Amino acid sequence: MKIAIVTGGSRGLGKSMSLHLSGKGHDVILTYRSKKEEAEAVCSAIEKGGRKAVALQLDVADHKTFATFAEGVRGALRANWQRNDFDFLINNAGMGVYAPFMETTEEQFDQMMNAHLKGPFFLTQKLLPFMKDGGRIVNISSGLARFSFPGYSAYAAMKGGVEVLTRFMAKELGDRRITVNVLAPGAIETDFGGGAVRDNVQLNKSIASQTALGRVGLPDDIGGAVAALLSDDNRWINGQRIEVSGGIFL
Ligand code: NDP
Repeated sequence: MKIAIVTGGSRGLGKSMSLHLSGKGHDVILTYRSKKEEAEAVCSAIEKGGRKAVALQLDVADHKTFATFAEGVRGALRANWQRNDFDFLINNAGMGVYAPFMETTEEQFDQMMNAHLKGPFFLTQKLLPFMKDGGRIVNISSGLARFSFPGYSAYAAMKGGVEVLTRFMAKELGDRRITVNVLAPGAIETDFGGGAVRDNVQLNKSIASQTALGRVGLPDDIGGAVAALLSDDNRWINGQRIEVSGGIFL
């Protein structure tokens, strides 16, 4: 049994990751920003399946709170597992902003940077002292770091940044036998971006037509992939970008 921390585990991809990890016999500390009830429902589902789960509040864009959050993690580990360390960290939480390059404001740019680049950078820094040597980190990027879609320049630039960061983390954490990989989902049916991929029939069809497997992604396509990546059989994969998109824009 391993203990995984999944940021943004209350909904969408993080929820699916949490459920798939627990399905493989792991326990989960998942975070939410504002949707406490959804987060607690995910914990209940995990507990029904016989694993332990705890939900903690976290805003990944509010870096000043990370030290307090790390203390909360430490407390939860002691209280629920009688442990001082955890095994897996999945930096998943985040939201998008849609704005053409010429119309993107500095505020929107900072919002994206704080959540998607500075967030994973400094949150990981704060949590690493409690990660077990030999632990595993997965950062979540996006297909948009490989191909360009108008309206996502600030978001995609930060996802590109997290891909570079992944390689540097893998290099520097190797002496603790910690692997760091980045998983890049294609377009998935979640609440992300106002649920456009799920709810806008035209957009959904258009993305499906550009995808080798002929449909858009579903949360379980990503949850299953993250759980598989974190299995012991994949322990030698390190410093890699893995796109999980059904083959979009090949
Ligand atoms: P959802 O909107 O479905 O869920 C977002 C999750 O992140 C929720 O748990 C939410 O918490 C949490 N969250 C949002 N903002 C913050 C914040 N500032 N601090 C802490 N938690 C936050 O999105 P997805 O599940 O689709 O997205 C998850 C990740 O996957 C993101 O990093 C996204 O960029 C990436 N991604 C998504 C794709 C897609 O098509 N869906 C494609 C490629 C990448 P709460 O419930 O409390 O609001």
